[in-house]
Amino acid sequence: MDGLSEKCGVFGVYAPEEDVARLTFFGIYSLQHRGQESAGIAASDGRQIRIEAGMGLVSQAFDEQRLGALPGIAAIGHTRYSTTGSTLACNTQPLLVNGVHGEYALAHNGNVVNAKELKSSLGLEDHFFETTTDSEVLARILSDGPGRDLNDRFAYMMTKANGAYSLAVLTNDALYAVRDPLGIRPLCIGKLPSRDNGGGGWVVSSESCALDHLGATVIRDVSPGEVVKIDAGGISSFFPLGQNSGRTDKDEKLCLFEFIYFARPDSVLSGSLLHEVRRRMGVRLAQEHPAEADIVIGVPDSATPAAIGYAEESGIPYVEALVKNRYVGRTFIKPDQRLRERDVELKLNPLKHVLEGKRVLVVDDSIVRGTTTPRVIRMLREAGAKEIHMRISAPPITHPCPYGTDMATRGELIAAQNFQPDGRTVDVDAIENHVGADSLRYISLEGASWATRRGAGHCAGCFTGKYPSEGIPLQLDKFELETDDETGSMPSILPLIRS
Ligand code: AMP
Repeated sequence: MDGLSEKCGVFGVYAPEEDVARLTFFGIYSLQHRGQESAGIAASDGRQIRIEAGMGLVSQAFDEQRLGALPGIAAIGHTRYSTTGSTLACNTQPLLVNGVHGEYALAHNGNVVNAKELKSSLGLEDHFFETTTDSEVLARILSDGPGRDLNDRFAYMMTKANGAYSLAVLTNDALYAVRDPLGIRPLCIGKLPSRDNGGGGWVVSSESCALDHLGATVIRDVSPGEVVKIDAGGISSFFPLGQNSGRTDKDEKLCLFEFIYFARPDSVLSGSLLHEVRRRMGVRLAQEHPAEADIVIGVPDSATPAAIGYAEESGIPYVEALVKNRYVGRTFIKPDQRLRERDVELKLNPLKHVLEGKRVLVVDDSIVRGTTTPRVIRMLREAGAKEIHMRISAPPITHPCPYGTDMATRGELIAAQNFQPDGRTVDVDAIENHVGADSLRYISLEGASWATRRGAGHCAGCFTGKYPSEGIPLQLDKFELETDDETGSMPSILPLIRS
C-alpha cells in the first residue's frame, strides 16, 4: 500500500504542431504516483521559455488558464516529491535558469549526493542560487558551467555529479533527455503518431505508462550515460563519457525498488512489464516461504500483482479483502491526532464477511518504518481473521536511499533496528513480534532480482548498504543545501522562480 513518499516524475515533449502544454499536463498526470507535493510545466515557443507551477497534485496546480499561458513547440513537466530541499514553493520544478550560456529549464528525478561540493566547485556565489535543491546545481552547470558548448557541459556534469539524475532539459529550440552513467532512475523515449493534418513528435518520460495514455509508441530506454537531443533536425544521441565508456550491462544500476514498489505496474522497465515482475516476486515468495492459509490477499494497490503470484503458486485462492479509498492522497487538510493514528483506516476498509474465521495470507510489497503493517494486521484481526501470515515482496530495508527515494533515516527503518547479534542478518522474528503477525517472512534479495529477469545489474543499496557510487554518507540530510553554514539555520523565504 502507499505509505511514505515517492520520487519525482519527469516528462518532456517535442511536437511543434501539437498543444505541448496539454500533452505535458496529461503526461505528468500519469506520473502523479511519483510525487504529489508540487507540479510544474515549462514550455518554449522557440524564442522564450515560460513556466507555470503550483503546490499539490497536477489537477490542483493547473487549470485551463494556466495551460493556455504555455504556448510552445516543446515542453517539460515534473511532479515532485522532495528528496533534497523542503516543501517550499521555490523548490517546485521545472527550474528555469538564465546564465551566461542562455536559458535552460530542467526537470530532475533522482538525487545528487555531492551537490554541496559541486556547488562550491562551480565558483558561483551562494546568492546566485535561487532554490535549495541539488537540481539547481545541475541546471547551473548547463547555464554557467565550464566548457565550449553544451556537450562539454553535459560531459562536465557527468564527470562531476555523483548520484542519480534522470533529466528532461528544455532550451529555446530543443528537448534533451539525460540519464546518469549508472542509470539509477528510469527514463524512456516514445514517438507520438502523426495525424491526417500533420502533428506527431517525440516524448520522454520517467515511465512508459505516460506514453501509453498519450497514444505514443515506446521506442526505447535512454541508456545510462546518454544524452538524447530532440529538435527540428530530429533525434540524435551522444555519450559524453564515450559510448559505453568501459561499461557493460552489469554496470547499470537501475533501482531494484522501482521494480518492487515505485513504478506503476503497467510500466515497462528495461523490457519487463512490472505487473509480470511483481507477479513473479509473489511466485518466488510462495516458493521461499509457504504457509497454511485459507485465502491470499494483497494490500492494495501496490501489492496486488505479488499477491496474485503467491496465490497462483501456492494454490490458495486470491480474494479481495481490503478496499482502498482511491481518493485518499495528498490533502492540505491535516488530520487531527485521533485521525492521524487512524491513517490506515482512512485509506483501507476490510471486508468482514470475506475475512471472518479465515487463516489469511497477506502480501505487502515492503516494510519501511514498520508503521503500516501492525495497523493493517490489527484491522484484519478486528475484522475477524483467525490467523495472519504476512509475506513481503521486498527484502528487509536496512539502509536509507541516497539516490532520490525518501526512505527515512537509518534509525527509523525497522529492519535496521532489528539486526541479529552477529550484526549481519536481520532478526525477522523480532519484527514479526513487533507487527503482531502469526508469521512474517520476506523474499530473498536473490529472489527479488531473479523476478526482474534482467541480465543487467541493480542498485540494491537499501537492502545491502552497498551503494554503486563512492562516498555515500550514511545519514543523509535532505535539507543539506538549505542550512546556513555558520548558524545552521534555515534561510529566509526564497524567491519564486517564474519567468
Ligand atoms: P511503513 O509504514 O513505513 O513500513 O511503510 C510501508 C508501506 O509503505 C508499504 O505498504 C509500502 O507499500 C509503502 N511504501 C514503501 N516505500 C515507500 C515509499 N518510499 N514511499 C511511499 N510509500 C512507500
